[in-house]
Amino acid sequence: MKNIDQIYINGEFVKPNGTERFELVNPTTRESFGSVTLGDEQDARRAIAAAKAASASFARSTVQERKDILQRLSDSILERIDELAEANILEYGAPRMASVGRVKLAAGNLIDSMEALENFEFIKYIGKAKVVAEPVGVIGIITPWNASYSQITAKLGAAIAAGCTVVIKPSELSALQTQLLTECIHSAGVPAGVINVVNGLGTTVGAEFTRNSDVAMINFTGSTRVGKEIRRATVDSMKRVTLELGGKSPNIVLDDADFTKAIPAAVRSCFSNNGQACVAGTRLFVPEHRLEEVKRLARETVESIKVGLPSEADTVLGPQVTHKQYLQVQHYIKAGIKEGAELVIGGEGHPDGLEQGYFVKPTVFANVTEEMTIAKEEIFGPVLSILTYKTEEEAINMANNTDYGLGAYISTANLEKANELASRIQAGVVLINGAGFEMKAPFGGFKHSGIGREYGVYGLEDCLEIKTITGFDLKM
Ligand code: NAD
Repeated sequence: MKNIDQIYINGEFVKPNGTERFELVNPTTRESFGSVTLGDEQDARRAIAAAKAASASFARSTVQERKDILQRLSDSILERIDELAEANILEYGAPRMASVGRVKLAAGNLIDSMEALENFEFIKYIGKAKVVAEPVGVIGIITPWNASYSQITAKLGAAIAAGCTVVIKPSELSALQTQLLTECIHSAGVPAGVINVVNGLGTTVGAEFTRNSDVAMINFTGSTRVGKEIRRATVDSMKRVTLELGGKSPNIVLDDADFTKAIPAAVRSCFSNNGQACVAGTRLFVPEHRLEEVKRLARETVESIKVGLPSEADTVLGPQVTHKQYLQVQHYIKAGIKEGAELVIGGEGHPDGLEQGYFVKPTVFANVTEEMTIAKEEIFGPVLSILTYKTEEEAINMANNTDYGLGAYISTANLEKANELASRIQAGVVLINGAGFEMKAPFGGFKHSGIGREYGVYGLEDCLEIKTITGFDLKM
């Protein structure tokens, strides 16, 4: 059993003041594999005090010192890549084939932040002014469970690059992954107090970060509901907020696309990370007259995907992270059926032989209309909704007819058309013809999908305050 009863404050692992224990459950088997002792508001305040105390000297660190720290942090993660990947499989249910990549992604974020410093101008001259970019101060980092390592390192990398100290509250569902990552942070030899990590609930530790006036900025990834709560709670202390929130991303396949590539790619990308990806293309828009072909290709793709034990090398889809997520997916599948969508494949319940864990059937619905719940709400599970359009104009209007605006996908043989559609899509990231993400480029959402941008130079800029000085060269 793994019992975690420490938090990380001022460069040391210490016992939390909080005493509440939270059971850690393996989503593949539903068996408990340990527990974590949750920190409380007092622990949050202790961590914030340590970050505040370290803040003034870290703000004066040189760019080279910060680059060295980022390099060491990245190296120490890669040194324990296998252990970190195993924890990701055990605690989250990540398929083995994805887990190592997840750790590399986390380490890579830190290198990207280091490279963002390469030519970054902390001082610019504009007219007769000197414009200085200064670290914003203590940053409260709050992250979800669906990509714990990389969510933390994306935010941590930007903060360190900017010269900010941090207090981190990862998801309570990622306590084992947090423990290992924190050990990596500890062995990287970062000055005491610069990075502090507190296990705990959002409503206690997270809420304290959000209202505490010694925290200058919250960098949050999670649901739109909690993102809005955080934004409200930060008003009185006038914090900066970067919010990376939910999505209901469209995937538009135009008539001239190669459907034998675009449809399998659409299904697989919707189901990536066990269907628990904020940026998943969960609304697939196809020409009305091609629907039967799309249904066949989608069904064949799902049949070719192995749903199974995450520890097995060829598993593509593992379990949902918790019973709550399992029930949420069931709720939406029921809603789809009840509201009249056509079930192409999948449906309610567990896949055969996988009754013991939180496994769901990868599910595709066709004849989904815009009013249906499954077309509007973020499901956060492997459920794809196929909608049809008659004209491209209709497709783009439907794609934008959502409160969200995180990602968008376009497939077409006509690149000019693809780029025109990309300019009309209301989303922070657009991927054309199966292109992957560029992790050095900004990531974030339009509309209810968030505020601010992460990664690379844009992530760094979000952690800086700008000061304009005139008369800096004026002698009395
Ligand atoms: P969540 O919003 O429930 O929780 C996220 C974090 O916020 C957790 O650490 C939680 O403990 C904390 N929290 C909860 N209530 C809080 C409060 N009142 N004050 C402060 N902190 C609080 O999200 P989740 O269920 O962990 O993750 C899934 C959600 O995250 C999905 O909506 C998904 O789309 C989103 N997400 C977005 C991105 C992105 O980059 N846009 C990436 C990954 C996940």
